Amino acid sequence: MTISPFVDPQTRRSSVAVDVGGVLVGGGAPVVVQSMTNTDTADVDATVAQVAALHRAGSEIVRITVDRDESAAAVPKIRDRLERLGLDIPLIGDFHYIGHTLLADHPACAEALAKYRINPGNVGFKDKKDRQFIEIIEMAIRYSKPVRIGVNWGSLDQVLLTRLMDENAANGSPLSARDITREAIIQSALHSAALAEETGLARNRIILSAKVSQVQDLIAVYSELARRSDHALHLGLTEAGMGSKGIVASAAAMGIILQAGIGDTIRVSLTPEPGGDRSREVIVAQELLQVMGFRQFVPVVAACPGCGRTTSTVFQQLARTIEDDLRRNMPLWRDKYPGVEGLQVAVMGCIVNGPGESKHADIGISLPGTGESPAAPVFIDGKKAGTLRGPKIAEDFQVMVADYIEK
Ligand code: SF4
Repeated sequence: MTISPFVDPQTRRSSVAVDVGGVLVGGGAPVVVQSMTNTDTADVDATVAQVAALHRAGSEIVRITVDRDESAAAVPKIRDRLERLGLDIPLIGDFHYIGHTLLADHPACAEALAKYRINPGNVGFKDKKDRQFIEIIEMAIRYSKPVRIGVNWGSLDQVLLTRLMDENAANGSPLSARDITREAIIQSALHSAALAEETGLARNRIILSAKVSQVQDLIAVYSELARRSDHALHLGLTEAGMGSKGIVASAAAMGIILQAGIGDTIRVSLTPEPGGDRSREVIVAQELLQVMGFRQFVPVVAACPGCGRTTSTVFQQLARTIEDDLRRNMPLWRDKYPGVEGLQVAVMGCIVNGPGESKHADIGISLPGTGESPAAPVFIDGKKAGTLRGPKIAEDFQVMVADYIEK
């Protein structure tokens, strides 16, 4: 029998590194997790609270909306409050339509932000677009800030799109409308990057993104953008949607692109349930990078799905408790126990796969299934380390995990 080599992730695409307030994006740096608030930025208390929560969840960069004078005036206050809380997290300003005037009228805002996000499709109004785009770039140069040129399917430059449609028609329409739209997105990003560089912004101050809402479009657009440019790339599926659909679509699209070595920072854009936790998108982004083997954020808990051999929910509850414990303790453990992110824990429901899976983990437990004797063998570093019995199996295993990490 011949065994073929297995396929590992491709070598990362080479990109120009960009320093975003002390966080490196691109240039071979680990893929950065970022997110965005949904508070009114003018509400300083609410925005500080949400930025802090996103940061605690693991967001390494947070974007905030800067849409009017009140929000621009709030930005330096938010920055100050975060610093007083000891939170040194880069804040990105998201600008649309009037970014050039907001940055000009609010120098403290321009200074407090670590990066400006500009959407070439709505940077200004009609024939003044390029002039207003240049004004923002000049501001970035003055304040030594990087920019993200973020093209979005929903606000694509209509002049560029119409021109490409007309050219296609004049050539006998060899391309579909979908192909033309994909091409317009790419050209919009590349044209804007070239204009920024002509204006004097260094290449290591430019990040590109080209967000669409369909998985196949995202894969096609980023594959081509990566081929035509060496700028650092921000990945994200826009309008991904709610619940499992948004998670699956984001993971499918970004997973394929990351596997091809493309992408320097990611944002998972999930529509939160009313009153839902915004931090969910950060956890999903971390889990995507972690399950693909690109980064490690928290120890992995392997748990079986359960079946007819388990009549109780004890093992699911234990798996959830262990996972929550690990995530909650990570800020403390990360500094105290270097490498703890790589820990693998197994919580299994019966003897069929329990001992085997537990032996593959650093520490694992095989709980008793239906009809099995009420004993739970624990395995540490591949060897049986003891058996837990009685009503406190879950608590005892939590203690064993904590002891294992400390030792
Ligand atoms: Fe079912 Fe046991 Fe497999 Fe879990 S390990 S899914 S309980 S057979």
